[in-house]
Amino acid sequence: MSHGAARPILPGATLGILGGGQLGSMFAQAAKRMGYRVEALSDVADCPAARHCDRVHVGDYADGDWLAAVAKSLAVVTFEFENVPAEAARALAALSVPVRPHPDVLFITQDRAREKAFLVKHGFACAPHRTVRSRDELEAAVRELGLPAVLKTAAFGYDGKGQRKLVAPTDVAAAWEALGDGPTGPCELVLEGWVDFECEISVVAARGLDGETTAFAPSRNAHAHHILDVSSVPSGLPERVLATAVETTRKILASLDVVGVACVEYFVTRSGEVLVNEIAPRTHNSGHLTIEACETSQFAQQVRAVCGLPLGSTRQLAPAAMANLLGDCWERGEPDWAAALGVPGVSLHLYGKSEPRPGRKMGHLTALAATAEEAIARVTRARSLLRGE
Ligand code: AMP
Repeated sequence: MSHGAARPILPGATLGILGGGQLGSMFAQAAKRMGYRVEALSDVADCPAARHCDRVHVGDYADGDWLAAVAKSLAVVTFEFENVPAEAARALAALSVPVRPHPDVLFITQDRAREKAFLVKHGFACAPHRTVRSRDELEAAVRELGLPAVLKTAAFGYDGKGQRKLVAPTDVAAAWEALGDGPTGPCELVLEGWVDFECEISVVAARGLDGETTAFAPSRNAHAHHILDVSSVPSGLPERVLATAVETTRKILASLDVVGVACVEYFVTRSGEVLVNEIAPRTHNSGHLTIEACETSQFAQQVRAVCGLPLGSTRQLAPAAMANLLGDCWERGEPDWAAALGVPGVSLHLYGKSEPRPGRKMGHLTALAATAEEAIARVTRARSLLRGE
């Protein structure tokens, strides 16, 4: 698709963001610093983006009249969350508001089965997998792929929600019951062969209207209970692995004709293979450290890309690490913020969520240091101090 010589959207214009979470909040902070107005479209009023947006439109994404009324003031719409119905993005695009990335990118990446089909069609390496719609199909897929394997719901999964690891044949029945038997009939699922990876990495990249693509350095990601725990850059991986990940990301963004920011997560196997895990059509948790560590943050880059402006430099100024703060950090009461901030090089980001539920992303810490190892040590020490450990 050619986006032609569309004119850039300049400061003073109003940018729309679909979703009201922390990624929208950090996008709004970057955009407002650059002189834009930002309005979020959310299905809840009390959302993190409300603290930094000029306005939050609260409504039902399925309500065409609401979308039409909201669209009037917007110069462009982008995403901060992929569990927004693709129909809402299509409805906005039909109202002549540029939606960047375009709604098909959301449609493909919000569903694991469609995303895997896209990867296979375009020859991008990923884990062996099967799409299953019944218990019999699941049994057959387990026989073909072997165990261990991971069963994932095709739609509406994130942070390990909608996932079950299958280790023994006796796990099949419980996994199907937990994920396959939806309230309105069987759900579509994807069974993935277990990848015995050496590490996980991700690449956040931006692609402009003219097809120019810039990537941030790949981040090494450690997960705990399927939720991102710590990201660090540089990753310390061989140049060949990094180059493969960056080049694959560039090709994926080009194949999807992304205008905006997207993140591709990868498994790096013990033999050095780089397998795509998933694609997010937006900024990513593993890119938060770019706020302090890079010449342009992933959020400022998202503003530039969706507005048709030149992309910024992704050069990293110092090794960095980011640690997520989940609701669990409040288990022993209010965290010890002062102790955490006493660690040199540490910055605190809190998203303004009032209820610290276990597993809920409440904020994050970033540390800069002379090496990635030292940045990880600083950020994890700060988090331990904050928890009173
Ligand atoms: P996902 O939501 O698909 O990114 O999965 C969350 C996390 O679960 C990943 O970041 C991995 O740590 C783990 N995981 C998911 N799929 C697999 C797999 N096929 N093999 C090994 N680990 C996996």
